[in-house]
Amino acid sequence: MRPVTEPDVRASFVNCSKGETKRLGLPRDFADLPWDDLDFLGWRDPGAPERAYLVAERDGVLTGVALRVTSGASRGFTSRSMCSLCLTTHTNGGVALMAAPRTGGAGRQGNTVGQYLCTDLACSLYTRGRKKAPGAEVIDETLTLEEKIARIRVNLRSFLDKVTG
Ligand SMILES: [Zn+2]
Repeated sequence: MRPVTEPDVRASFVNCSKGETKRLGLPRDFADLPWDDLDFLGWRDPGAPERAYLVAERDGVLTGVALRVTSGASRGFTSRSMCSLCLTTHTNGGVALMAAPRTGGAGRQGNTVGQYLCTDLACSLYTRGRKKAPGAEVIDETLTLEEKIARIRVNLRSFLDKVTG
């Protein structure tokens, strides 16, 4: 993705209040993020670990989504869970169920979109082999890197559509 600035990110959120947007903790190493290798910017709030954020370009518009981490999704040492964006499987709580409040009236009624995601939201880096978690496994090794990147972007788009739809 194109590098973006902190004010861009704060202005991009579609599903939380202005107050929340102002207070949310941004990644600490913002200036040094590997933008070329990111399909989206995802991070856990350094000051509130149950909060996570995802920011991506959608039709050229920066779109930020706030998420609540609702569970560690780990059902024991040997259980594996798969991220629904990058399809990386992790053991040991490397995947969590996260809930994004929907925008508009649906969100005001408390509707959320639940999605199993890598708990560190480093999907772009797992996809590119830039980051490896213990026990992490990327399936579909027959796909080329371009195909995997295309897939993560399709999955991301459909998630954003569900949140704002
Ligand atoms: Zn992932």
